[in-house]
Amino acid sequence: MRRQRNTKIIATLGPSSSRLPVIRALFEAGADVFRLNFSHGDHKTHRELFGIIRALEAEVGRPIGIVGDLQGPKLRIGTFVQGPVILRQDQTFQFDLSPVPGDATRVHLPHPEIFAAATVDTELLIDDGRLRLKVTKPGTDTMEAVVQTGGRISDNKGVNVPGVALPLKPLTTKDRVDLDFALALGVDWVALSFVQRAADVEEVRNLIAGRAALMTKVEKPTALDELEGIIRLSDGVMVARGDLGVEMAIEAVPASQKRLVRAARNAGKPIVIATQMLDSMIHAPTPTRAEVSDVATAVYDGADAVMLSAESAAGAHPISAVRMMARIAEQTERDPLYRAIMNADLITPEATLADAICASAAQTAETLKAVAIVGYTDSGSTALRAARERPTVPVIGLTPKVETARKLAIAWGVHSVTSRDPSGFDDMLDIALEAAAYDGFGKSQDHLVIIAGVPFGSPGGTNVMRVARIP
Ligand code: PGA
Ligand code: MN
Repeated sequence: MRRQRNTKIIATLGPSSSRLPVIRALFEAGADVFRLNFSHGDHKTHRELFGIIRALEAEVGRPIGIVGDLQGPKLRIGTFVQGPVILRQDQTFQFDLSPVPGDATRVHLPHPEIFAAATVDTELLIDDGRLRLKVTKPGTDTMEAVVQTGGRISDNKGVNVPGVALPLKPLTTKDRVDLDFALALGVDWVALSFVQRAADVEEVRNLIAGRAALMTKVEKPTALDELEGIIRLSDGVMVARGDLGVEMAIEAVPASQKRLVRAARNAGKPIVIATQMLDSMIHAPTPTRAEVSDVATAVYDGADAVMLSAESAAGAHPISAVRMMARIAEQTERDPLYRAIMNADLITPEATLADAICASAAQTAETLKAVAIVGYTDSGSTALRAARERPTVPVIGLTPKVETARKLAIAWGVHSVTSRDPSGFDDMLDIALEAAAYDGFGKSQDHLVIIAGVPFGSPGGTNVMRVARIP
């Protein structure tokens, strides 16, 4: 089984996608990676979802990536006793530290630091900024606000306090528990929310200690100030436009997205574009033209992956949303201008043997019209460096480690396959030819460009390239 596109799709799981038949259909429609969102659901639910994905993986015989997304120091309201309520413009609404479920007049806001920082006229934005309230009566455990922009408000919606510096640690107590849980389950990626500094990433990186790859979610403007350090310490980056678009002027988000894609691509770290990509499909069976264009833009920019949030987690059309994303990616990648637009940012090889070989492999594959680059990869690095070239052919990442194969499911153009370490050069050719043939990458006489680090099975960089022909 192989996908007919380079851009990968991440689908967030939730109430709309919690059973095997739906998750299987999401995979078949094009989801390469699933996100478990620790902002919602309990450990029991996440454990069940994890088990379903791994069972599906065994059934379909393809590595599937799983992202455990930690809520981070995200500010959220509490719950409501009788479900969602509607806030109307100009009404007063109370926030307090009482854990009692809320109603149409008040709700729990479990963040003393907001009460400490809020003054008259402090703005509170709820649900990705959909609702806007202004504090009229601040207080240490209760405060009153007037609704500026009303709407529907429901359990655990996010709160942003733009422009107010709150002392936030990178991991809350809940995050630490969730992180241990996610690592014990065996997630492939841990996503870290509300990173403000490189030091936040470093702290969590040390806690993870190599047990999963680390994806930094950029959703605070302050993260952009330390971008270089943050990318260096991360294995991947997410443009988390939901919160970013509330924390900074919404019209500044596209430029930040471009900047993040360029910086992450240049570093060879997977870059994910997230949030509201097909937002209207939460309710409607087809997206808006603007949403289609937004997904296509991410594809043209050479992003590694595009992500669905509520569309697949809580929407009415999760499978159609994934299918739509796949169709947009496939169609966009067929545009004769796709390559020219994607390569407008010149990404040149670094002065390393591995990059020299990856660049040569990409060039050789194009010149010979090879059907794939086959990269032997232990940690995933060879496959990622090859993908960084954005070659004209898929990169088959052959790895003895299933963890690496799963991690690579997120990477642009990489089709990962688990295999044994080759015993020697002839075996390397045999395994590569077999892997390419098995998943339908080529036919007799087609060329494969094979790259590897020799001796096999010992750590060290890519140092050989070999062209082989399918017999
Ligand atoms: P979230 O992150 O879905 O966990 O909030 C993504 C975003 O903020 O865009
Ligand atoms: Mn967010």
